[in-house]
Amino acid sequence: MILIDGKKEAASLRLKLKDEVIELKKKFNNVPGLTVILIGELAPSQIYVRNKEKSANEVGLNSHVIRYPNDVDEKTILKKINDLNKDNSVSGILVQLPLPKHINKKKVIEAIIPSKDVDGFHPINVGNLSSGYESSIPCTPLGCYFLLKKIEPNLSGKKAVIIGRSNLNGKPMAQLLLKENCTVTITHSKTKNLKSECLMADIIIAAVGIPKLVKGDWVKKDAIIIDVGINKTDEGIVGDVDFEQVSKKVKALTPVPGGVGPMTIACLIKNTIDCFKRTQTN
Ligand code: NAP
Repeated sequence: MILIDGKKEAASLRLKLKDEVIELKKKFNNVPGLTVILIGELAPSQIYVRNKEKSANEVGLNSHVIRYPNDVDEKTILKKINDLNKDNSVSGILVQLPLPKHINKKKVIEAIIPSKDVDGFHPINVGNLSSGYESSIPCTPLGCYFLLKKIEPNLSGKKAVIIGRSNLNGKPMAQLLLKENCTVTITHSKTKNLKSECLMADIIIAAVGIPKLVKGDWVKKDAIIIDVGINKTDEGIVGDVDFEQVSKKVKALTPVPGGVGPMTIACLIKNTIDCFKRTQTN
């Protein structure tokens, strides 16, 4: 079984991106800038933002975190986004989710100008991705895609089963795999007989949020399994795939932690650089 080492892949992607930033600086006398807006004190969000900032600095981006208390009003956030949209030193804007209840997520996502939407959540980017046009692609599915391509460069004709249909993971993942000529099945909580769907899959992307949902007898011998899940349990962080059972059967599998997670952040850096490049050449 191939253990798909997301940490190693992410480190190698970051190195490439670091070189790219050096070249961009030579060419444009400027580096890409990433600004993250963090609202409130949620511990996981604090950790994610710290890791994003660390990676951005490591690669040489001009990175900033703007922090607001949990009770900040929506108008203040929208005004800040509007200012950042106009700021030429900012290539990418990310508002860390989840937001406090009194702030409308849709309004916030739509306030970010699509050309600086490094998360790829703006409806214009979602539409561009599904139309096969250039767009920012949500970081986690993009990371899954890179890991998959590393194991299987030619995905054409493969049967892919995606578990979960969120805007963050399942839906953009389906678009990426369709573009690679996979035959894609998207499953969700109302899917009947998930096990039999999985048993037909050459590729399974599990993005559900249910610890160890995918069992050893759900998978084919040569399947490639990408586990997006991050679930806090009594035995620590586990994925959506029963690692112990599934690792004995399949061709390749990502661990949790150390699989998709590190790639997500590296892809955020990549998206920021891509946003910068598009503005320099347009
Ligand atoms: P989400 O928005 O809660 O979506 C979960 C999806 O799973 C929904 O589409 C839901 O179906 C489906 N589902 C629920 N129960 C199911 C079942 N029994 N069988 C089949 N499908 C079922 O979650 P998400 O944001 O996509 O996140 C999924 C997991 O990925 C979480 O563990 C999260 O922590 C993790 N995650 C990891 C990263 C990373 O960097 N590694 C990034 C983001 C998220 P319905 O649509 O019918 O409700």
